[in-house]
Amino acid sequence: MAIASKEFIIKAMSENIINAKKKLSQNFLINEEVVLKTVDELSQNNVVEIGPGIGSLSEEILKRNKVLYAYEIDKTLIPLLKKQFSFYPSFHLIEGDFLKQDFSYDFPISVVSNLPYSLTSPILEKILLSDNDIKEVVIMVQKEFYLRIKQTKGKDYGPLNILISLLGKLDNVINVSRNNFLPVPNVDSTVIKITILNSLEFDKKDFYRFLNSLFLMRRKTLSNNLSSYLKSKEKAFKILEKVSLDPSSRCETLSKEDFVKLYKEIKDYNFSTKTI
Ligand code: SAH
Repeated sequence: MAIASKEFIIKAMSENIINAKKKLSQNFLINEEVVLKTVDELSQNNVVEIGPGIGSLSEEILKRNKVLYAYEIDKTLIPLLKKQFSFYPSFHLIEGDFLKQDFSYDFPISVVSNLPYSLTSPILEKILLSDNDIKEVVIMVQKEFYLRIKQTKGKDYGPLNILISLLGKLDNVINVSRNNFLPVPNVDSTVIKITILNSLEFDKKDFYRFLNSLFLMRRKTLSNNLSSYLKSKEKAFKILEKVSLDPSSRCETLSKEDFVKLYKEIKDYNFSTKTI
């Protein structure tokens, strides 16, 4: 019986082996097809999984002879996971909150996750801003989240959209309705795949901080937000003129190329005005 099956989950719940914790947003996958489609997207032999739960995805990953590094926060699931998979020498369990754990691998990895949706953004940020050689991130997200992060303009456009599109390409792997989980959540999901194709020629973390400050006050003008970021109105106008961007425009109308151009100009400006 596959772990990602209704029978398995109901049995485990009725025997009190697992009890879905609301606080940790535990909704267990009960559709094996979703598991297969998700795992099919993982290109690497080394896989990092965040939030294995009772191991629905982990089982399939290990079966395919991949090496798995799984991060699980829920202490009560640890013995279960150990019991289930300890006979695989390729199974490595990291206990604790992924957001607080060291996340560095000196070999190429694939990343996969079905995590609480309140954590999607911080988890994706930690993954994408790390220095790891990540080939792809395959992650279950709330359907609306996918619709937001693929926007390239407008109110749903923001730092994460820009980061993702600069690093690679975003695809929808499979739409997953709420009925594929137990307990049934109140939203529908989509498995997305971010294929990493590019490495940025500048410091990603610093660039991401820059994007966040420009989007801090969405309704304000570009020159306004840039002035706060640079702590100088004069500098902001000079730089905007240099890169031919309209100071009265709003950030949500700028393309990812505009942001890169602006960021590079700022770095050059700071460099050329630095006193040694
Ligand atoms: N992937 C499983 C479980 C999904 S439920 C499945 O598809 O069935 C989400 C899982 O993420 C739970 O096991 C929960 O305990 C775990 N989790 C929640 N927050 C976490 C965090 N910060 N770090 C690691 N795991 C976390």
